[in-house]
Formats: sequence, C-alpha cells, structure tokens
Amino acid sequence: MELNEIKGLGKKTEELLHKLKINGVVDLIEYYPYRFEYIVKSKIDELRQDDPIVIDGIIESIPNVYFFGKKNRMTFKLNIGRHLMNVSIFNRAFLKSKLSIGAEVTIIGKYDKMHNQIQASDIRMQKLEKEAIEPVYHVVSGITSKQLNHYIKLALPFVEIEDFIPEEYKQKYNLIEKKKAIHIIHDPIDKLELIPAIARMKYEELFMFMMKMNYLKQNKQLKKGIAKNFKGEKIDELIQSLPFVLTEDQVKCIEEIKIDLQSTKRMNRLVQGDVGSGKTIVAFIATYMNHLSGYQSVMMAPTEILATQHYENAKKVLEPFGVTVALLTGKIKTKEKKEIYKGIEEGQIHFIIGTHAVFTEDVIYKNVGLIITDEQHRFGVNQRSNLRNKGLAPDVLYMSATPIPRTYALTIYGDMDVTSIKTPPMDRKEIKTYLKNETEMKSVLEAMYQELKSHHQIYVVAPLIEESDKSDLENITSLEEKMNKAFGKLYKIGILHGKMRNEEKEEVMAKFQNNEIQILISTTVIEVGVDVKNATMIVIFDSFRFGLSALHQLRGRVGRSNLQSYCILISNRETERLEILTKTNDGFKISEEDFRLRGAGDIFGEKQSGDMVFKLSDIKKDFKILLKAKEDSEKFLEKIKKNSKENKWLKCIAEYTDLD
Ligand code: ADP
Ligand code: MG
Repeated sequence: MELNEIKGLGKKTEELLHKLKINGVVDLIEYYPYRFEYIVKSKIDELRQDDPIVIDGIIESIPNVYFFGKKNRMTFKLNIGRHLMNVSIFNRAFLKSKLSIGAEVTIIGKYDKMHNQIQASDIRMQKLEKEAIEPVYHVVSGITSKQLNHYIKLALPFVEIEDFIPEEYKQKYNLIEKKKAIHIIHDPIDKLELIPAIARMKYEELFMFMMKMNYLKQNKQLKKGIAKNFKGEKIDELIQSLPFVLTEDQVKCIEEIKIDLQSTKRMNRLVQGDVGSGKTIVAFIATYMNHLSGYQSVMMAPTEILATQHYENAKKVLEPFGVTVALLTGKIKTKEKKEIYKGIEEGQIHFIIGTHAVFTEDVIYKNVGLIITDEQHRFGVNQRSNLRNKGLAPDVLYMSATPIPRTYALTIYGDMDVTSIKTPPMDRKEIKTYLKNETEMKSVLEAMYQELKSHHQIYVVAPLIEESDKSDLENITSLEEKMNKAFGKLYKIGILHGKMRNEEKEEVMAKFQNNEIQILISTTVIEVGVDVKNATMIVIFDSFRFGLSALHQLRGRVGRSNLQSYCILISNRETERLEILTKTNDGFKISEEDFRLRGAGDIFGEKQSGDMVFKLSDIKKDFKILLKAKEDSEKFLEKIKKNSKENKWLKCIAEYTDLD
C-alpha cells in the first residue's frame, strides 16, 4: 500500500507527511503519539476557579463572532442541565454554522468559576460518550493530530508488519501481538490496555537497538586493523622527557593502548577519566606510538579553543621527537589551509589536530593510523565515518571527561572497550567547594580578593544556557560591571562567550593563559578541557541551572596544579541537590548521582542523541527494559549466527556492518 492509496489522502497531505519524515505507510503507522490526552468528564460542583473542564451541553444561543485582525473570538451560551454558562473560544469562527441552537456538544477548556464562564480550547461536535483517551501527535501546520490519527487508522489494516521479537521472549514476557499493540497505541480504549501495548513496542525497539550495538561490536572485532610496530625504548624516552611522573592509571591505560595498537585487531577504546586526570598526555603518547609505526594521527576536539590548546601542547611534547603537528579549524585562511592539506596528503604532517574540519571532504590523508576524539560525548558516532583514508582501517581512541555509571557505559558504549583513569595526579589537592546564597556576595568577593592578592586567577561563570538569548547576554554585561566595580582598578577583566568571533575568543583565552587577564567572565564555552594552571578559583552564578556533571566539569577548570583551588557555587535555589558537590570531587560518584536525579540525557548532552533516537523509548525512563533487551539480544544474536535461516534480523542490522 502507498500513502496516496489511503482514502482521502491527497497530494498536499502527502507532502505534509514527508515533512514529518513519513514516506510510506510503515512510517505512517509507526508514527506514534508523543502523549495521550485523558478526557474525563468533569463534575461541575467539584471544580474550582481555573480548573480544566470537560463538559457536555446544549447550545442555547446563536454564537456571536468578533473579528480582530486575522483572529476571531466566538461566544455562546451553553446549557449544562441546571446551569447556563457562557463559553468563549478563539479562532473557531468556521464552526459557527454548525453550532445551531439545540446542538449537543462537548466543550474542553478552563473553568472561570467567578464569571460563570468557560474559556474553551476545543469544541467537539458530539456529546462525549464516556471517558476517552486520545493520542496526540507532533504535527506541522496544515494537518491536525486528529487527521493524522484518522489516516493511520485507515492504513493500519492494510499494512504488513514485521515483528522482530523472537518467539521465546514473547512467551517469556507474555507480550501481545505487534499489530494489536500498534492498533491500541493509535486507538486506545483505556489506560489499562495502553500500558502493555507501549511496553511491548518499547521492548522491541530497544531489543533491536541492542542487536545492532552487539553486532557492531562483534563486527568491529572481526575487522582487521593495522598491526603497529614500534620500539618501547622510544616511548620511554618521551615519558622521561615529561615534567611529571605518570600516574598508575595513566601507565595502565598506556599499556592497554599499546597492546591494542600492536594487535591486528582494530582498537576501539574509550578512555574515561575525571576532569584533570590527565587524558591528553595519554593521547599524545598513543600518537607517538602510531607515528613511530609510520602512520599519521588525527585528533578531533569539540571547540576551537580546545583544539588550539591541544595543538600548543602537542607541539611542546611531540615536536622535539620529530612529530610535525598542524592545526586545522574552520577559521584557518584558505591559503594556509591549502598548504596544510598538501602536507597532509604528502605526509610531511604527522599529527593533525582540529575541530570537525579534520573530517571535511577536502582533506585527503596519506595514511591515518589513529583517530582520537576528545570529549567524545559531544559527537555523534557516525561523524567519524567520513574520513577519506585510502582504505586503511585506523585505530580509534575516544576520550571522555564525563564518566558514566558502569552498567550504562556497557550498554551504550557496548561496541567499545572502556578504560578508566580514576586517580588524579599525586600533587593535586582537593578542590574546596562552597555553596553560597546571593546575599552572601560580600564574603564571595572577599574570597576572590584573597586569591587575586596571591597572584592567582579566577573564572567567573555567568548563568547562560541559551547562547542566543539576549537577556542572558545582558546578564554577562551586568556581571562585568559588578566585577569592574569591585576589582577593576587593580585587576584586568576579560569576557568570553559564544557570540564572539573565534579570533576574539582566542585572543581573550591567550591573555588569560598569559595572566594578562586575571578574571575571566565566561559562559560555559570554557566548559570542556581548558587548562590554565594558575587559575585557582571558579565562581559559578545561578548554579542551579546546571546539571551536577556540568558543574563538576566547570569546577575541573581549577585544581590543575599543586595549588589549593576553590569553587564557589552561587544559588538561591535547589541547594540540596548541589550539596553533593561540596562533599565530593569524585566525578564517577557525581555522575551516578546526576544519573539518578536527572537521567541520562544530561549526562550525554543532546548532541549524542543522533545515534539514539527512539520512536517510543526514553533511554532514562526505560533503562530497565534496555538492560533486559541487552541481555536477551546478546543470547539471541549468538543463536541466529549459528542458524542462518533466521536472517530477518541480520538483514535489518546489515546497514550497520559497514559503518566505518
Ligand atoms: P583531562 O583529563 O581533564 O583532559 P588534562 O589532560 O588536560 O586533563 O590534564 C590536566 C593537567 O594535568 C595538564 O596540565 C597536564 O599537563 C597535567 N598532568 C597530566 N598528567 C599529569 C601527572 N601524571 N602529574 C602531574 N600533572 C599531570
Ligand atoms: Mg581533556
């Protein structure tokens, strides 16, 4: 069946459906409501002022319509038995002809008891039979939720539906048939039947997701990588040259990477380590191993600031050992870029650091043997597959400063090996964290002054979530005024926010790095990775606006040397939640708490979501189902691999076999 074979569905509607990414009848019936409206008839005597109301009645007066501009408002009297009430509704003038005196209708809206009036949001042209549940869909203008539902119901009987839940699990969990479940979701009679229908569909969705993850993992392990060959003494030389001794966890991590690189298996490893635990140097050492084996390395960072910082560091650490490093970001001039591209293609450049510019079509690599992505959770999994690399299968290393609970990591990063760097470098002191109210600003300013007097620097983070929001930018300006008033005579103050041009940002960052600026007022653009050792205090305004993990990340901007560092969280709200930060510096604990309180979405950031878009499931609310699905799919995958007749699953997940 095609979309245009559905009765009454014309060309125009079809185009609207395309906008909703509905390109066929299967898409259509799998276009699920995002919520359900529970319509229960109200008992008028029990309602208070402004309560929602659903009520039947009979039209008692010819509707009056008032037009103003493109809008209109209609009023009429409604008889609901003992009462006569006034109904008012916007923009339904087109219904006037149907609302004749004596017509039975159901009104949905808000009850204005004081004025004996209903501010209606909807009028139904028949009396409501009983309690009802109505699916509500995301739509675009031109098609209503109700129309969409109508077409879905027309299509349903004619669509062939493939069921991916293996028989044994259907029995084990006592799941209903797929067709029936879909039917119920689009046309529920009551809540009772809806719950198992939705659960069944979620299980299938998550089961197939985990099938893909597991398949991906196995497939990657099968894929041949390059067995690298280098001398251990050379690596030791580099390690000896560092101004510090590596921590035990760093050494362990480097050992694991070494084994990965030397094996014919492709490395696919995630290094998770708390902020400041020293992941960068691990990546550089991996780069050196790869270089000694004769291959190029690529490192991708989420922001220009971070890429630039890595570039500066890499030059210091690696160039003395003969590794040539280049920076590749969007803002580099065309002429310079051409030079760099040439160097990359011909192989004079060994290590390329940049933003996603490293993955643009124009870059042709001579022979990349290692790809590193820093702050992995900021990228979609698929972004890395665009590298043009002349058929080589490079090893891949991910770095994440957002530790996630172990069970969760195993599920979502199911296709990777995971190493954790837990212990911070020995010389670190715990960052002291304080929670303050805005009325305590005086003591905050005093504490800041103490640090400044000791020649240390300070980050001030402004409460800015939406970089586009104008009022937020005003916040930053008023904060600057405040700081100027307090410290402007003695110290230099700089500003950093997402609206600034890249050159401006880098200039400010460089000044802060060189201590030409002592107080840096910034939005969360400093959130990841920035490393200024002399900064010993961070003051975060309106900290209740951030998740715990995000705050922990921000806090990680200080405490990056042996100096005692401080974090001051200013908040007039939600202080209980924030208290955990005053008690621990352990990012793993904090992320676990964050996970408990706010779910996974915040931990991963929205950008990750591209790989995990589900039609019905919610990765945080349905985590229990996900765990079941993981277990079941692992067993099932083993089974169908032995028995190749059952291949509808393999066919469905085949697109994942050549991901990169
Ligand atoms: P992150 O893990 O947050 O990316 P970085 O790699 O930026 O942390 O390291 C934080 C700081 O600690 C850097 O200035 C780095 O030079 C330093 N560092 C890394 N390893 C050690 C170590 N073993 N001892 C002392 N300092 C170290
Ligand atoms: Mg880092």
